Amino acid sequence: MIHGSIHLIEDRCTSCMICARECPTWCIRLTSHQEQTVPAPGARPRTHNVLDTFVIDWSLCMYCGVCIEQCPTDALVWAGAHVPPADRLTDLLHGKAQLAPEEGGG
Ligand code: SF4
Ligand code: SF4
Repeated sequence: MIHGSIHLIEDRCTSCMICARECPTWCIRLTSHQEQTVPAPGARPRTHNVLDTFVIDWSLCMYCGVCIEQCPTDALVWAGAHVPPADRLTDLLHGKAQLAPEEGGG
């Protein structure tokens, strides 16, 4: 696999923040909120995190793979596609939509 960029498999992400904390260049930012669900009638509600935003700043990323290694749920994976060059630094901030794996691979 060519380490061109990173994909986020959103439904695996628990918003645990480990990747953001362990990234040596602090280029991952995420926000989340908590929701409660009742798994069955009469059962105690369970609280879980829901990911709101997840951004990688490709102008800072050094492709070390620490975030991928540290993610406990394998929500981050190497992607073959390279991040295209950009004129503005803000264009190198990629959110959930840009980090999502393409259907059928990528
Ligand atoms: S590959 Fe390294 S620098 Fe890039 S987002 Fe992951 S931990 Fe941060
Ligand atoms: S380490 Fe994995 S599960 Fe935790 S916030 Fe990062 S991507 Fe999501």
